[in-house]
Amino acid sequence: MSQTQDSIFTKIIKREIPADIVYEDELAIAFKDVNPQAPIHILVVPKQPIAKLSDAESQDHRLMGHLLLTVKRVAEQAGLVNGYRTVINTGPEGGQTVFHLHIHILGGRPMGWPPG
Ligand code: 5GP
Repeated sequence: MSQTQDSIFTKIIKREIPADIVYEDELAIAFKDVNPQAPIHILVVPKQPIAKLSDAESQDHRLMGHLLLTVKRVAEQAGLVNGYRTVINTGPEGGQTVFHLHIHILGGRPMGWPPG
């Protein structure tokens, strides 16, 4: 994808396409995954369009910490009291398909290990 083209997640942030948004603040947004892999499957996304984790830089440390604390907050809000899985797919071999950094929250069922 070209760097000048908005990702699908930027379009959600800009309300250009619909999503089931469950949380938003000045730095991040969280919405339900359109193709859920668990009873609860939410994506936590920075508003800053960092393409992937390996593109994050030291100056992004506050944002990166904020994203993890947002995961905690959103998981609590979703009632995931017995735990949940967090996933960040990075790059083609990491299984990433949308090149706008996001953290998956998967819960509502026991998770297997190792992941596929
Ligand atoms: P990745 O494979 O990049 O780690 O995860 C991308 C995720 O985004 C997938 O789980 C996919 O179902 C989800 N996704 C892709 N397009 C959309 C969309 O338009 N809306 C929502 N809510 N989720 C999407």
